[in-house]
Amino acid sequence: MAPIVRSVRGDLDPAELGPTDAHEHLFFVTPLQPGDEFADVGRAVEEAGTLVAAGVRALVDWTPLGLGRDLDGLRRVAEATGLHVVAATGVHRDAHYGPDDPVRGLSAEALADRFTADVAGDGAIRSGVLKIGASYHRLQPLEQTVFAAAAEAHRRTGVPLCVHTEHGTMGLRIVEHLGRLGVPPQSIVLAHLDRNPDAGEHAETGATGAWLQLDGPGRTKYWPDSAILQLIADLAERGFGGQLLLGGDTGRASMLRAYGGGPGMDYLFARFKPRLERELGAKLAQRIFVANPARAFAFEPRT
Ligand SMILES: [Zn+2]
Repeated sequence: MAPIVRSVRGDLDPAELGPTDAHEHLFFVTPLQPGDEFADVGRAVEEAGTLVAAGVRALVDWTPLGLGRDLDGLRRVAEATGLHVVAATGVHRDAHYGPDDPVRGLSAEALADRFTADVAGDGAIRSGVLKIGASYHRLQPLEQTVFAAAAEAHRRTGVPLCVHTEHGTMGLRIVEHLGRLGVPPQSIVLAHLDRNPDAGEHAETGATGAWLQLDGPGRTKYWPDSAILQLIADLAERGFGGQLLLGGDTGRASMLRAYGGGPGMDYLFARFKPRLERELGAKLAQRIFVANPARAFAFEPRT
């Protein structure tokens, strides 16, 4: 079967994807960020509209099960804006779930069945990525169960695995761990690597063939955008320009203008992308925003 990208409005030829925000959240509710949750469809449409105005054609929403994931809301945003929207199934890192969260009672087998049904079942809206998460320098018991379930769901469906890394740690170990579970590096997207802006560290991970995602532009209280541009330049120089992805990852209401915050979901495309083009060239930008997402989020359905 030819590879497809699975969007909330159906399967796409990967070439249709266009400029892509590789990591986004249109809705997100977590006990970790009290007061900073966002779940309003109208405001999601408003914020997503700013993406369209900034030239975005597709976004990958990384909100997993239990954290405000709203498939019908994603579909409504896609219909209202014309954006291609890819939904996630999966389970985030341990800290996002309270002690009594039902997700803690599920076996790896039950989770694998749920993930598989979300990606390849007969639901009207299917997921196109499987999100999982690791803790800081370690995998907690829930995360180990989720990783095993995700590997099994990947084996059944071919769906790409999108992995939260905590402060950019453990990239190589995550790829090796998933490799032992049968997942090839080319089906793994590692997020937040720029929390540790160390090109040498990520080059070791990139040498496996895994996707390297950066998503920190605009988080000025942690680091300037220049640090991320330098990291991109260093990774491209080391030969990883064909494995880089960039996302906005606006995971807090206080980051969204529709909720009175800033800098807004469009910062990555309206502000950072033009600077990347000026400083590192339009060719690299085209790879990062168009060519790479069309490969990273494509898979051959197996069911
Ligand atoms: Zn995120």
